[in-house]
Amino acid sequence: MNNRKIIKALQEAMILGKKEIPKGRVATYIPELAYRDKNKLGICIHTVNSEVYRIGDFNERFTIQSISKVISLCKALELFGPEYVFNYVGMEPSGEAYNSLVELDLNHNRPYNPMINSGAITVAGMLCNEISFDEMIDYTRKVCLDKGIESDRLTLQSEMDNCARNRAIAYLLESKGIMASDVEDSLLLYTQMCSLSVTAKSLASFGMILANDGVNPQNNERLISSDVARTVKTIMLTCGMYDGSGEFAVLTGIPTKSGVSGGLLSVVDMKMGIGVYSPAVDDKGNCIAGRPILGHISKELKIHLFQQQETDL
Ligand code: GLU
Repeated sequence: MNNRKIIKALQEAMILGKKEIPKGRVATYIPELAYRDKNKLGICIHTVNSEVYRIGDFNERFTIQSISKVISLCKALELFGPEYVFNYVGMEPSGEAYNSLVELDLNHNRPYNPMINSGAITVAGMLCNEISFDEMIDYTRKVCLDKGIESDRLTLQSEMDNCARNRAIAYLLESKGIMASDVEDSLLLYTQMCSLSVTAKSLASFGMILANDGVNPQNNERLISSDVARTVKTIMLTCGMYDGSGEFAVLTGIPTKSGVSGGLLSVVDMKMGIGVYSPAVDDKGNCIAGRPILGHISKELKIHLFQQQETDL
């Protein structure tokens, strides 16, 4: 892909994203997130050819929040296989907010998908009997190609002190017989995973590994199996942006997962990973600058999943 084209698209996307920031607000329901500077904005692209393009606050550390749901799902699918995992959690978009428990209570015996809180707490319940948080940190460092990833203790404590809603979800899951382990242990692992500190660069690298079928192109090490990478990318496309997933998919055609701290993990299959950080979020909890940024990059680089490719078939 043309270097100059990528750099130009990034610079323009940065301007479009900045314009959108005033319309969003920093999440405050986890008190520690409220202190973040709303005007930060960073974007990073990591191509499968090992080229890295970065702009703005691409190196700023922030907590991964819901993007950790992708990492936990990868690990659970590797450890237990799809049959077991999808017996406990579905793979359908919920059309509800990330922290909703209404549809789970009224209609269903399992969460809609692993990208909403109820689904991810279920996945954490599977994991916590099998793997420690330290091992999950190591796994996250590996797939993000970032040895600097740590748990942000202040944010973890802040969320554990204010997680009544997630606790309610966890106990509702328990009441329906869905939790595979102790409720409090599962809730803790879920929240610990949300507290990992990443950068737009780490997310771009993780996206690049997923784009490259789970293999690190630098040393050809397989970090994620091909089947798991494919499944996870598909679920990101249909469920990654909560109840805004459909519109985002139409606009960008790029499988993406958001986190309420303002991060975005995007995967352009066989081409690149894209990481974005901008803490102002919209009313669905998605990074507000993300729409114009990914929309522009998708259009300029012609990387919408269903874009007519300029090659002969
Ligand atoms: N830790 C957050 C929660 O459970 C993550 C939500 C998000 O990033 O959307 O509420």
